[in-house]
Amino acid sequence: MIVTIDGPAGTGKSTVAFLLAERLGLEFLDTGAMYRALTLCALERGLAPNDEVAMTALADEIDLRFDFHTAPPVLLVNGRPVGERIRAEDVTGAVSIVASHPPVREALVRAQREIGREHPRLVTEGRDQGTVVFPDAELKVYLDARPDVRAHRRALQLRSKPGADLAAIDETEILNAILARDRLDSTRATGRMRRPDDAVVVDTSELTTDEVVSELARLARERLREAVLAGGADDHDAAAGGRA
Ligand code: C5P
Repeated sequence: MIVTIDGPAGTGKSTVAFLLAERLGLEFLDTGAMYRALTLCALERGLAPNDEVAMTALADEIDLRFDFHTAPPVLLVNGRPVGERIRAEDVTGAVSIVASHPPVREALVRAQREIGREHPRLVTEGRDQGTVVFPDAELKVYLDARPDVRAHRRALQLRSKPGADLAAIDETEILNAILARDRLDSTRATGRMRRPDDAVVVDTSELTTDEVVSELARLARERLREAVLAGGADDHDAAAGGRA
């Protein structure tokens, strides 16, 4: 079973996807972390995020893989864990540019499908999981929330970090950065963020994380039951056909 969760920044995709995977006994894939790791490598090497040739060469060269033995799985770049550095502001500010290059997306989409083949019981989250990477997923979800709610959540997250500079955390600035990233993510030529036509849309603005996870777990179980019943019906039809 593959469950895809797409949607804009700050809707709680990562938290929801991880908890849903735990609840259903599935594995969890954070595809944003892959784009972030690539961006971090580019920044460390002094490469320009808008240099498509350099970004493509980097995407082809670096080895990105998850260690699925830990929860959540740890992302390894050339065998080394990247850690929380990929969530820093400089990476967040550049990642959408890196993710806009079609050959970069091709490389990461390939890697994500490979992960899907090796781990076919998966909750995966990103921007293009239901539309491009896993179009046949059993359950597709699109999480959304009001922009002010998303900015407020992000501010709370930043404030709760040890050593946070509380005076420097400005919700209006955060809101503008989120909207700018959404704009880039939803207008690029390839793999743009959009709601899959067959997705269940959940607005998380007024919901707790637990409410969202419980509703998605219920839906996933329902889909699984339907798939099992449909499989049973197919077997029955085949058997009946065979007898005839
Ligand atoms: O979800 P997260 O904020 O970690 O994603 C970081 C960025 O990576 C997004 O803003 C987007 O530009 C890119 N991304 C993407 N496709 C995905 C996942 C993330 O383009 N499937």
